[in-house]
Amino acid sequence: MKNMIQPGQFYAVSLGPGDPGLVTLRAQRILEEADTIWYPATVQPDGSVQSVALDILLECRLDETRFRRMELPMSRQRQRASKVYDHTWSLMLEELLEGKRIAAVTVGDAGMYSTLTPLLGHASEAGISCSMIAGVPAFIAAGAAAGIPLVCHSDRLTVLAMVDSTDEVDRALEEGGTVVVMKLSTLRHDLVPWLEASSTSFLYAEKVGMKGEFMTSDIEDIRNRSIPYFSLLVCSRNGRQQ
Ligand code: SAH
Repeated sequence: MKNMIQPGQFYAVSLGPGDPGLVTLRAQRILEEADTIWYPATVQPDGSVQSVALDILLECRLDETRFRRMELPMSRQRQRASKVYDHTWSLMLEELLEGKRIAAVTVGDAGMYSTLTPLLGHASEAGISCSMIAGVPAFIAAGAAAGIPLVCHSDRLTVLAMVDSTDEVDRALEEGGTVVVMKLSTLRHDLVPWLEASSTSFLYAEKVGMKGEFMTSDIEDIRNRSIPYFSLLVCSRNGRQQ
């Protein structure tokens, strides 16, 4: 069968939020045909390496000799991150100029707060042809796993990320509809007091589709949780998330 993917092309491939069952057929095909597959990983303070993307890739039954790791610093260290991206891009560009097909993967959808955004920028500056392969964003998977329609009729859906204070969430809720807060760990210390004080119904979702998945709409259940990086909140003042 003729290859679907082209030489010298950069593919930003969405893997979905964790469950390999949410990797699309198109993503799987691109991954099978790519010459190299680049996945993001973070190095923890104790030196161990964590990569949800790799955990998903390992379930896709691919030739692991094509795997390449991009070690990203924690998200707020912008300068260091930008150096890593520049370096990673220079390695990718060498391969692209040799006509190789590169797949860079990301958790969730590649267009939603994705680790691949800077690489797409580099590719477009270098005039390299790019394709983005759509995937399931974490908040969509969370709503489905909890059996909650996120929005209906003419509801508004607002997606926030890495907010500095609950005021931002309040402002969005005042506009009406459903509000999703991604990168929720920035609100770690304020979350429970805020939920207690506000009349907001919510779904808290942690590690959806991954080992350790946890979801609740009860404040008591999150009182002692650490609110890790892979957590999000879906909330509304019209009662839908109860
Ligand atoms: N591209 C991703 C989002 C990356 S930003 C997407 O489309 O979903 C990272 C944030 O996404 C995390 O801080 C968390 O809020 C959310 N996230 C990603 N995967 C998740 C999962 N499996 N469970 C819960 N939240 C997740």
